[in-house]
Amino acid sequence: MSRQETYSFFKRDYCTECGDCLVKCPVMQLSPPEAKREIRRLINSEKTKHVLTKCTTCFSCNIYCPQKADPYELILMRWFERYRKNGLGQTMKLLSPNHPRNLWSALWKKFPEDEKKRIQSWANPQKSDLVIIGGGMTSFVPYITQSKILENVTFVGTGDFWTSGGLYYQLGLFDVVEQAGRRVEKQLGKVGAKRVIPFYVGEYVMLKKILPQKFGIRFNFQVQPFEEWLLERIKRGEVKLKSKVKMKVTLHDSCWSKAAGEEFFETVRNLLSATGVELVEMKHHKENSLCCGFGAGAGRYSMLDIISYAGKRFKEAEETGADALVVHCAGCLWIMSVAKELLGVKMPIYHVFEVVQLAAGEQPLHRHSERAWDIIGTVLAHPIANIVRTGKGYWIAPFPPEIEDRTEQLEDKTMLSKLITPLLKRNSVKKLISKTFRIILSLR
Ligand code: SF4
Ligand code: SF4
Repeated sequence: MSRQETYSFFKRDYCTECGDCLVKCPVMQLSPPEAKREIRRLINSEKTKHVLTKCTTCFSCNIYCPQKADPYELILMRWFERYRKNGLGQTMKLLSPNHPRNLWSALWKKFPEDEKKRIQSWANPQKSDLVIIGGGMTSFVPYITQSKILENVTFVGTGDFWTSGGLYYQLGLFDVVEQAGRRVEKQLGKVGAKRVIPFYVGEYVMLKKILPQKFGIRFNFQVQPFEEWLLERIKRGEVKLKSKVKMKVTLHDSCWSKAAGEEFFETVRNLLSATGVELVEMKHHKENSLCCGFGAGAGRYSMLDIISYAGKRFKEAEETGADALVVHCAGCLWIMSVAKELLGVKMPIYHVFEVVQLAAGEQPLHRHSERAWDIIGTVLAHPIANIVRTGKGYWIAPFPPEIEDRTEQLEDKTMLSKLITPLLKRNSVKKLISKTFRIILSLR
């Protein structure tokens, strides 16, 4: 059986080629005739006019398909074929934890001491029945987990958890996903976890659904989304909310929340409701939610696509008249924080856990702006080939059989980075970068 056949998750026999998935797609909204033509192009492995460059890998089409044919996985398959043939854009080296200069290893060097220690403990966890997965996304912003509410809970997993395969699944890198799944199975086996609570809902979906159902990787522990676990603790009185948070907020539903199941949308809303905030919905929410911008990079591996798309999401958030944007996904948090700085957006962002902290009488560390500039500096410090599209392909190296402790290698050695990082502490430089970025985006 070929690799393509092994990973053939689209249910071709169910598909009637009706095109509904692409008519309803919140990004493309194709006309019915064009949607039918486009789905046939996808099925026949022909060049598409829209989908393979514009899709934001948001999962909605699987919900829209009346036949449950999983058209999203058809798109992923075509991207998998593209990856096998041409590799990834050079940008993606930054998001490959086994590349020597990746975003995780470069960023950790810049973390304050409290976060460095936190990450070290996630990389070397104690044995525990219950563990929270920090993992690939949360380890860009580990400060959001620093709270009395999470004291005495064991966290596991840094960048080398490969987001339990989640990020790479969204790009259709099926062989990478399978290796990531096996690695996580080994790592969680070592800590002896019986209950696993991923902080990032993408990892919940991977461990609960995608890895067991599509890749045959079965785990012998229970998995529960962090938001649901936290809400249960609040209901049982284990987390005491002392006062109502007086804020009007709008909620960004992440792409992964659509794959988590309908009940997840309500769980996050119930969590917010428990804090006392007033929620106003954006035009696109729940199953129709737009991507934070991250997924917009999947089609062309372009950073500019990501920031430009995040700008659209902010515009919709601002139109609600809310005081703040709330996200529940650590990936959405750092991508939108970067976009906020580069686009000069005024609306503040909170992670849903920060809102719970406020209701519990805690002051969250809220280092979003500093972290965003750390990320911007790291990306700018890498060769220009890392931030623009390039014809040269990059293939992720096979995973080593043993799990190495990469926290020993947390170093950003590039000269450019050493020069750029102090410069980025200056407000005038930040303003200049942000202004330049907006000019570049307006010229596209
Ligand atoms: S995947 Fe579903 S919605 Fe899309 S064309 Fe096929 S049957 Fe219709
Ligand atoms: S994943 Fe989202 S953006 Fe892509 S085709 Fe499906 S609905 Fe459209």
